[in-house]
Amino acid sequence: MQFLTSWDDGYLLDLRIADLLDHYGMKGTFYVCPAAQHTAKMLSNDQIKALSNRHTIGAHSMTHPKLTQISAQDALKEIQESRQWVENTTGKPCTTFCYPYGATNNAVEQLVQEAGFTDARTTEDLQFSSSDPFCKPITLQIAPFPVRMRFHPMWKVLDPLGPLRSRYRRLRSLDTPHRAMTSWLSLAKYLYAYGLKNNLLFFHLYGHSREVEKYGMWGELEEFLGFVKKTNQ
Ligand SMILES: [Zn+2]
Repeated sequence: MQFLTSWDDGYLLDLRIADLLDHYGMKGTFYVCPAAQHTAKMLSNDQIKALSNRHTIGAHSMTHPKLTQISAQDALKEIQESRQWVENTTGKPCTTFCYPYGATNNAVEQLVQEAGFTDARTTEDLQFSSSDPFCKPITLQIAPFPVRMRFHPMWKVLDPLGPLRSRYRRLRSLDTPHRAMTSWLSLAKYLYAYGLKNNLLFFHLYGHSREVEKYGMWGELEEFLGFVKKTNQ
């Protein structure tokens, strides 16, 4: 089983992720966007160029819009210009794209293909394989689980068990025992072992370094990478 990781937005803290990956002999794809997100510190162009010598750099649009909610003309511009920007910054070909907010549809996927990319990633999770290179899902996001104190976008109330509720059915279809659903780390370890045991294609970990920092998950990330390395030996 292939172990893949990708990291979105191009935060300065991505350098800490890159160091961790290097330590464990793993690779990452960093989907960078020139627009700063959440007023966070972002990678400079020089840092992106240096990072491209260690890991893959992918495009993630110019201004981080939902590509499904703007005109096809504007979406194509976002997609094409971001590829050009990454190539100018790194001096290397940029072949992979990531949809901001995971928002995509057939028309947007067509535009990404037209712009010359060979594949694109979504945020659809709990998957271990993909048939469409322009709609590549992930397996697990590093984010608080099973409880996350944030407002449900529609209900406007705190929805602490939202991350678990929305995935419960899929997790059960993967035979996930309840004890594995009690923390992010136990879930990550269970799903990785599940993929290995069933000889599945990949385990794709994705995240935002800003969230790893915000939710204090560096220790869990490091422990999981160590687990993957040990399990693979
Ligand atoms: Zn993003």
